[in-house]
Amino acid sequence: MTTKEYYANHREQILATANKYYAEHREQQLISRKKYYSNHREQILATANKYYAEHREQCLAATNKWRSKHKEQELATLKKWKTEHKEQYFESVKKSSARRKRDYPSLYILNQKFEGSHLHHLTPEIMAYIPVAVHRAVPHNLRTGEGMQEINLYTMNQVLLGLCHPTTEFVHDEDCITEV
Ligand SMILES: [Zn+2]
Repeated sequence: MTTKEYYANHREQILATANKYYAEHREQQLISRKKYYSNHREQILATANKYYAEHREQCLAATNKWRSKHKEQELATLKKWKTEHKEQYFESVKKSSARRKRDYPSLYILNQKFEGSHLHHLTPEIMAYIPVAVHRAVPHNLRTGEGMQEINLYTMNQVLLGLCHPTTEFVHDEDCITEV
């Protein structure tokens, strides 16, 4: 029997075992993943950035495809939660927007809003829209400064890219050297 055949014949059983294992070890896995991330942060980010730079178009297409496929599902889940927790939802919206207004006056926005974007605070006064996926993938905290360098570097890159004029002309490096 090939592995494929075995899997087809025992699918239910295999999935049940996997789910059980996952449920029992969830906490543990989360902790070890977090630990791994903080120990290998530089490498992970470097790899992610490199991959993103090389596969930018594909990444964007995949994200968009995923989003449009799951949009209804996402919205339905959110809607359900909102109706089931109405008071809680309104309270939390009120509280968080009041707190944000008080702490971060938000004076400047560097770029245009786009679909699937989140507003990220580079500083208490300066904000920019970046893809939700990136905003969630890089843990950061404006209050403590944790992770801010990484996410801001990415954000500035995105903002600057938005200001760029594509060129096919070859521009020589030496143009940047100032003789002294
Ligand atoms: Zn942010």
